[in-house]
Amino acid sequence: MRNTRRMLVYAALFVVMLPVAAAQQQPAHHWAIVLHGGAGVIERRTMDPGTEAAYRASLTQAIQAGSAILAQGGSSLDAIEAAIRILEDDPLFNAGRGAVFTAEGKNELDAAIMDGATLKAGAVAGVTRTRHPISLARAVMEKSPHVMLIGAGADAFAGEVGLEQADPSFFFTERRWQSLVRQLKKEGRPIPPRPSGAPPPPPVPMAEIEAAGAHKFGTVGVVALDRAGNIAAGASTGGTQGKRWGRVGDTPIIGAGTYASNQSCAVSATGTGEYFIRLTVAREVCALVQYKGMKLQQAADQVIHKELKALDGDGGLIAIAPDGQMAWSFNTPGMYRALQAEGGKLEIGIFAEPSSNTE
Ligand code: ASP
Repeated sequence: MRNTRRMLVYAALFVVMLPVAAAQQQPAHHWAIVLHGGAGVIERRTMDPGTEAAYRASLTQAIQAGSAILAQGGSSLDAIEAAIRILEDDPLFNAGRGAVFTAEGKNELDAAIMDGATLKAGAVAGVTRTRHPISLARAVMEKSPHVMLIGAGADAFAGEVGLEQADPSFFFTERRWQSLVRQLKKEGRPIPPRPSGAPPPPPVPMAEIEAAGAHKFGTVGVVALDRAGNIAAGASTGGTQGKRWGRVGDTPIIGAGTYASNQSCAVSATGTGEYFIRLTVAREVCALVQYKGMKLQQAADQVIHKELKALDGDGGLIAIAPDGQMAWSFNTPGMYRALQAEGGKLEIGIFAEPSSNTE
């Protein structure tokens, strides 16, 4: 009799636990990813259909690489790194190969990554030899006791941890070079010699994609939410064209251009970095979410359309929250951008309509 009762208790327990076990096998969170490829004077009337198609194809390829990792249960950090590595190799974007030039005719690269689950972060600035600065930022986070490394020391660390090194001429693109020369001529500043190792100049100057005097866009950034419920942010850039004196922008400054915390949100910003540093834009958005209880889109719009505008700053941002909210906001004529969430459709945008997104 006692045995029968025990059996009944076990049977009841089994029935009760079944759905629990099933629930544990289900992913707790729906994954999501948002990406930007820089904000600036990007207008339909100055962009030919071929160029637009090329940008759309690149954005699609990068976000799909990130989505595939998240769909397989991979981490937000892995998805971000994979998507950014693709854009760093893509000469259309101001990151890795295709980065803008400094006034001295160099490519000085910045990158950062932050893990919202642990608040660990890694950043690099002024790197000239590491093919994938985003992977170097991740190595700083995971394999060094530091958060930020700069210049030759950062490249040396990259070599020590086995990251691919390249000759500085690897990052050279004709389009960015001619754009620098045009800017320096216009400003009456000296033109540096063509970098050694660069291919010979083409007989005919290349057509300008950007409006004259426009902010030289193309920084790349990604924020993601994985199935474990962790968010992260990462970004990579060549900074601003014609920069001098070892200038570093907001991208590798944690809290300014890049920030992630599971307590609030993950943000990657793009625009003229000086304003984003002064406003600590990325942290500001997350603080509004965390302490004021704002919706993500509302917080993003408040910072971009009110606080940044008040300083006459230009640019935009992408953001994601652990509950799956996604947002983008920009006060420039355009921002290259894409988003995808589990079960949802891929959305890609370039020009200002719509200027913001809520999911
Ligand atoms: N924010 C970057 C910087 O100032 C540039 C950009 O986003 O286009 O370095």
